Amino acid sequence: MIRIAIQAKGRLNEQSSQLLIDADVEVKNPKRKLLVCAENFPAEILYLRDDDIPKAVAQGIADIGIVGMNEVAEKNADVQVRKDLGFGRCRISLAIPKEHVYTGVSYFEGKKIATSYPNILKKFFDEKGIKAKIIEIAGSVEIAPAAGMADGIFDIVSSGGTLVSNGLKEVESVMTSSAVLITTPGLSNEKEEIVKQLLFRFEAILRSVGQKYVLMNIPNAKIDEVISVLPSLKSPTLLPLAQEGWSSLHTVISEDQLWNMIEKLKSLGAEDILVLSLDKIIP
Ligand code: ATP
Ligand code: MG
Repeated sequence: MIRIAIQAKGRLNEQSSQLLIDADVEVKNPKRKLLVCAENFPAEILYLRDDDIPKAVAQGIADIGIVGMNEVAEKNADVQVRKDLGFGRCRISLAIPKEHVYTGVSYFEGKKIATSYPNILKKFFDEKGIKAKIIEIAGSVEIAPAAGMADGIFDIVSSGGTLVSNGLKEVESVMTSSAVLITTPGLSNEKEEIVKQLLFRFEAILRSVGQKYVLMNIPNAKIDEVISVLPSLKSPTLLPLAQEGWSSLHTVISEDQLWNMIEKLKSLGAEDILVLSLDKIIP
């Protein structure tokens, strides 16, 4: 049995829960309790605030955690980062009032910066040889300059909309982050086996993200030409149709190439093109 810590509510909760469901680690009545046993996998799920996940995993209260890399870096917890899960992407940036002229990092010398990430910021300023006053606040960091508490902020940015609506502009991106899978160092062999099983399932799911399964009918005379333009996992699958002179071709195409590829395939004579979603890819 392993214990997996995920965010109880917030930006990472939904995708962390969905990843577990897709991996067939399902819980009944999630969120009614803080600790719930999975139905068909030897795991229990512990719902925590994201700030608490790195420490819980470092101390072995949970064996596995799903949390933003930003929290792992900030807490400097003794955990192993095993897998980038690709969701919850953001960056942590320095921002200043939009009317100020930014002159490079030396701008921050002697300034007061409000943040919920004092350790990451201190490391950045130390590396750059900048002496600034870091003011730690837990939330609503972006109002600190307008409220007269600080000259700038260091906070999470994804679209930048929050900064703009608070009269700020992003001037330095210090780190990028996404959700990662972390484990307690030195897990028992038995637990490590379960972690490996879970990682195998997660990898199969993540590999299929952004990929589509595409089937089409093509005239046999066009097979070589069609295959030469197609991407595929190994090589496309080709099956004869009952109707003579035609074949059915199956392949995997990434979503960002899909429409371009469909136009090409149609111009080469492909018909009855079906695009299906893919759940898992196991090479
Ligand atoms: P908790 O109550 O669990 O402490 P929180 O308020 O600290 O939650 P959320 O806003 O739910 O945190 O964000 C959780 C994580 O989601 C962040 O630490 C970060 O890794 C990631 N994230 C991705 N995009 C954003 C964004 N635009 N703003 C904030 N966090 C983001
Ligand atoms: Mg938090």
